[in-house]
Amino acid sequence: MATVSIHPAVDHGVKPGKDHFGGGTLSCKCRDKPVKVKVGAQTAHNHVCGCSKCWKPAGATFSQVAVVARDKVSVLENGDKLAVVDPKAAIQRHACTVCGTHMIGRIEDTNHPFHGLDFVHTELSSEEGWSAPVFAAFVSSIIEAGYDPQRMDAVRARLNELGLPPYDCLSPPLMDAIATHVAKAKGTLHA
Ligand SMILES: [Zn+2]
Ligand SMILES: [Zn+2]
Repeated sequence: MATVSIHPAVDHGVKPGKDHFGGGTLSCKCRDKPVKVKVGAQTAHNHVCGCSKCWKPAGATFSQVAVVARDKVSVLENGDKLAVVDPKAAIQRHACTVCGTHMIGRIEDTNHPFHGLDFVHTELSSEEGWSAPVFAAFVSSIIEAGYDPQRMDAVRARLNELGLPPYDCLSPPLMDAIATHVAKAKGTLHA
């Protein structure tokens, strides 16, 4: 069986995060005037994602994406190169218009369950110690990007082997957080 490639950051094993890690600087792939974004805290809920919207490095089957409080995220350099990929999407992905790298995924809708959190790709930083990916989201969606449906058992087996339990939406804790937010908004659940 051919080796299943997930993402370069995990294909050789998931690197553990470091306790007390305080963040770092993300750089886009441009050699000239790269966009630099400061993330001033450790990330959470890092995961690999199979959806078609998240940015992936060339050749990767999945993206790797984590969240951090939006007030910890700031553009340091060359922010004039950023533009929102799809202004209608719930997550506004601010990408470098030259190299295409997504630098910040931000939610402006204050009613969204994840409002206040930015989505970031910590592989764009040279610092080590970012929170390790802990699950795989939207696994079935890789088929939409052209992945062979016959190989999905192998993909899920590889994800389990890497310690990244595969889900076809988000992980149970995140799905529960969304449902709790919705229930509180509807009044079916009282805080
Ligand atoms: Zn760039
Ligand atoms: Zn995604």
